[in-house]
Amino acid sequence: MDKNRAFEVLQRLAFERVSGTEKELEAAKLILEECEKAGVLVTIEPFEIDQPKVYEASIAVTQPVQETFYCTGLGKSGQTPAEGITAPLVYIHDGDDEDITDVKGKICLSTGGMSSDLRKKLVARGAVGYITTWGGFYDDEIMKTQVPHRTAVVAKDDDSNFPGVLMNLATAEKLLKTQPTVVKMVLRQDATAKGESRNVIATIEGTDLKEEQVVFSAHYDSVEFSSGAWDNGTGSITIMELMHYFKAHQPRRTVKFVWCGSEEIGLLGSYDYCEKHPEEIKKTILNINFDMTGVLMGGDMVFGSVDRSIVDRVLYLGKVKGHAFKSHMGLASTDSTSFALHDVPSMSFGTRTPRGGAEIHSRRDTMEHLDPDTFIRLCEFVADFASEIINSSVNVVPATLPKEVLDQKEAMIKRLGFDR
Ligand SMILES: [Zn+2]
Repeated sequence: MDKNRAFEVLQRLAFERVSGTEKELEAAKLILEECEKAGVLVTIEPFEIDQPKVYEASIAVTQPVQETFYCTGLGKSGQTPAEGITAPLVYIHDGDDEDITDVKGKICLSTGGMSSDLRKKLVARGAVGYITTWGGFYDDEIMKTQVPHRTAVVAKDDDSNFPGVLMNLATAEKLLKTQPTVVKMVLRQDATAKGESRNVIATIEGTDLKEEQVVFSAHYDSVEFSSGAWDNGTGSITIMELMHYFKAHQPRRTVKFVWCGSEEIGLLGSYDYCEKHPEEIKKTILNINFDMTGVLMGGDMVFGSVDRSIVDRVLYLGKVKGHAFKSHMGLASTDSTSFALHDVPSMSFGTRTPRGGAEIHSRRDTMEHLDPDTFIRLCEFVADFASEIINSSVNVVPATLPKEVLDQKEAMIKRLGFDR
């Protein structure tokens, strides 16, 4: 494994690569070419995504003052008539029952997001529209207008028209400080538009135990306004270095490398891989995912959606090698969860950062805080840890998922909208 080679690839990959865009495609091709250069069997596998097109989104206070506030429209949330809707505004905090008793005919401002459940409740109580928030008070002026274009999470059985917009938190506070009595919202969109995203899948076939496989995964898409160097260019080059490693050290079990598209809009790439390859999923004994590694100031973290014994093995080897890990059992907000939802034992490596440290999902996610030595140290650790599993005489990974995962499964399916 070679940290310089990896960071050279990362440098070329560190551009905005939003799900369903030309740029995401460009990133997939770059990864494909690197795999081909390494002489590894690789394919690109496209899948369809929802890509609602918002034509117009605006919020203005009309009384007691007249002022417009910057926002983006939430895809699939709903529509207003062309002239918009005019209604009183109510601040509902997180949307607890105590705060939503008086929402009839009003536009609701929530700082706790908009779950599919809260959406249903507000619609049932007669609310007519909503504002959710993003970012923070201390964002600089540029970031206050770099509000992402997101899609609403709407339950399968919810066909209501409940238009929503997204606004920076500081902007929302400014709006609230005008003590608005009447607000005008416009949201026009094509909610049914589709787009295309893709996974890049490389395979190194095993020798005598090739009927079983281990899947390494990392998403390569980023969010808007972010070069995604850390999230998740680093994970992408981690599995690429592991690919070089297993190319040079032929594995007994088959090893797959899946660079997932569209993680940022709900783990769609990894979920698509699991859905499209039931036979491969059946023979997968473990998924090892990476989401954000190699930051200079921070510590390594492992999320286990796998039997505790495997997480304990990471901690044990960490002690042997002088490499500290913090661990957490359960589902993580990353691609390992798609595998767990398909009953595949999975785990994910990531980083804990100090308060005020490296940031993701904004233009602050750049190469600046990344470090090749920190990066390669985790690669080397995982190569050793995974080699034990990939080359062991019998499968050492228990097939059953831990209680923590089973407990969270239903809620996670709902949160991600896979019940649609
Ligand atoms: Zn990520």
